[in-house]
Amino acid sequence: MATHRTTPAPGATGLRLEPDLPICQTDLPLDWYQREFKPYAEEYLALPDRKPGTVLAWLDGYMGPALDHFGETLLLVAHFYMGGEIVKLVERYGGAVADSYQLALAASRHPEKKVIVESAVHFMAESIAILAREDQAVWITNPKAGCTMEMLAKDYMVLPVAEQLIERYGERLCVVAYMNTSGRLKALAGRTGGAVCTSSNAAKVVRWALDQGKLVFFVPDQHLGRNTAARLGIDQSEVVALRDPQALRGGFKLDDTAAQGGLAALDRARMILWGSFCGVHTVFEPRHVRYWKERGWRVLVHPESRLEVVQAADGSGSTNFLWDAVLHAPPGSRLAIGTEGHFVRNARELGRQRGVEVVHLTEIPEPGYSAGGCGCATMSRNDPPHLAGMLDLLRRGTPPDANRVFAGDSVDERTGARERLDTAERRQLITEARAALERMIEITETPQD
Ligand code: SF4
Repeated sequence: MATHRTTPAPGATGLRLEPDLPICQTDLPLDWYQREFKPYAEEYLALPDRKPGTVLAWLDGYMGPALDHFGETLLLVAHFYMGGEIVKLVERYGGAVADSYQLALAASRHPEKKVIVESAVHFMAESIAILAREDQAVWITNPKAGCTMEMLAKDYMVLPVAEQLIERYGERLCVVAYMNTSGRLKALAGRTGGAVCTSSNAAKVVRWALDQGKLVFFVPDQHLGRNTAARLGIDQSEVVALRDPQALRGGFKLDDTAAQGGLAALDRARMILWGSFCGVHTVFEPRHVRYWKERGWRVLVHPESRLEVVQAADGSGSTNFLWDAVLHAPPGSRLAIGTEGHFVRNARELGRQRGVEVVHLTEIPEPGYSAGGCGCATMSRNDPPHLAGMLDLLRRGTPPDANRVFAGDSVDERTGARERLDTAERRQLITEARAALERMIEITETPQD
């Protein structure tokens, strides 16, 4: 097995590619690949198995020349939720695996990196592009890798509603945009004097807005919004979710049908929530939590889960919080974790190295419970052929434009069709979205009482 830059990056997960353990990822059908990526997919699909020894021997043939070609100017990044051992592959080639906050800072903190290749969902790559310098180019290995929560909060759905809220509440309205939004919504947050937040700093950011007497319009995840309000001690009667966005093809009129309790409820609210949710995290139920707690397990969940699940659990927090919980648990501990399935699989492996038992919250061997934790299927559209193809096409100087990520790009994840802003519009969006991201960084990194 050839090797290239196998020294782990600082903060590496420490996970090992087991030679005999097949890569955990279902093959994508050939017609799911862009034309330029099909030759790589055909070769990959023809490999005799998916064991790392086989896959790496093939992958090295493309990755090695690209790594040599770009040298220190190349930065590979992946999110913790990536399946298919992509996190391990990316780390093996000197790349970094991080949560969405750290990913957003990837380019700005490394000005020497000029070519940034991301294996995760589109909004994460776009956040990198918003903070990147002019001489840094951001690429995504599969532009159709979207986040279902973000897909329920496209700009053409949220902006018409935001305009009506601004008309009704004026400067009191301040948008707090979760990182899982497009740049267009991050720019909306910037325009209203608001900020971006992540699951680890949402409470700090919302408290900052409320302390200024603002009415917070929290987009897009209603569950993170509600959990954040509960953490800050806000009465749930003052937290109002707007209409279910699943049936929407655009915005809706801000009238008595816009939310339960109508306009009167909105007028009493301290937080108004967009109605998006994550399909991966909303499968958890209080009975899953009870099952493990009754058997002496400590239960930790991600705050994109429903309020009643978070309240029943022993703790909740971001991806980094959950990873650290496994990393620092005393040997002999037993943890049931409610979050994305690929992450828990890797956390289990980390736990095994440390004598800590880890299960997925829904992995309950009893009738009446569906087995197995759900992975983020859209993020996992970034697979080994996409990584090999992206790096090889970049080295050859023929990367498909569809994979380039600019701030303000809006992608239809079903068709791959993309709407791109012109240069002046993009500059404006970058100014506004950066203001919201930089405000988050300032709030997060300023010590609070
Ligand atoms: S796990 Fe859910 S919120 Fe996270 S990227 Fe996937 S769909 Fe989006």
